[in-house]
Amino acid sequence: MTNAAPSPADNLRLIAEDLKTALANAGRAPDSVTITAVSKVHDAARILPALEAGHRVFGENRVQEALQKWPPLRDQFPDTELRLIGPLQTNKVKEAVGFFDVIETVDRPKLAKALATEMDKQQKTLGVLIQINTGDEPQKAGIAPAEADAFIAACRDDFGLNVQGLMCIPPVGEDPAPHFALLAKIAARHGLAQLSMGMSADCTIAAQLGATHVRIGTGIFGMRPTK
Ligand SMILES: *Cc1c(COP(=O)(O)O)cnc(C)c1O
Repeated sequence: MTNAAPSPADNLRLIAEDLKTALANAGRAPDSVTITAVSKVHDAARILPALEAGHRVFGENRVQEALQKWPPLRDQFPDTELRLIGPLQTNKVKEAVGFFDVIETVDRPKLAKALATEMDKQQKTLGVLIQINTGDEPQKAGIAPAEADAFIAACRDDFGLNVQGLMCIPPVGEDPAPHFALLAKIAARHGLAQLSMGMSADCTIAAQLGATHVRIGTGIFGMRPTK
C-alpha cells in the first residue's frame, strides 16, 4: 500500500483495463461495458475529479441526496448520465423522473404505473431497468425470477415503459456467476439489451457473463465515509 490514496481517475483507468481483459477473454467487444461510477455518500469534491477525467456515467441510490449534490456538477458537465440504482418510493417518483436519466430499480407494478403516469405528465421518456431478485431473497427488492416474464411484459405492454434491460444484486457471500447468468438468460428471451450487474468485487465476472453496465463504488472512490 502506498500512502497517497489513488485518485478516482486512476482507479477508473485500472478498472477499465481489467474489464477490457475480461471482455477479451469472453470474446466480447472491448467497449461493450459501461462503468457506472457509484458516487453515493461521496461529496461533490470527491466526484469532480472523475468528471474532469472525462467520466460521465454515475449511479446514485437516493433521490434526495442526488438532488442536493448533483445540480451544480451537472451544470458544469451537462452530458452526465445519472442512473438511479437504489429503491424508489412512489412519493419520490416525481422528483426522480424530473432528475434522473435512467431508473434501474423498477420492482413492482405500483411503481411501474406511477413512473408511467409521471413520465406522461412531464413529457419525458426515461429508460428503465427492471430489478430482478435473482436469489429470491425475502428481504431484497426486485421481482422474483418466476414472475419476471409477466412483469417485464406488463411494464412494456400495459404501462408503456421504455424497458431497456435488467438489473440484479446477487446475494452476499454467494458465487455471483449463476445470478449473472440467470439475469442474462431472462434478458435474452425478452430481447433486452442492457444488463446492469457486477460491483467492485465481481465486475470482471459480470463482464464475462454479458454485463453492459457494471456499478462500481468502492473500487473508484474508495471506502464510503460513514455519516
Ligand atoms: C453501493 C452500490 C453499488 C456499489 O458497490 P461497491 O461494492 O462499492 O462497488 C452497486 N450497486 C448498488 C445497487 C449499490 O447500492
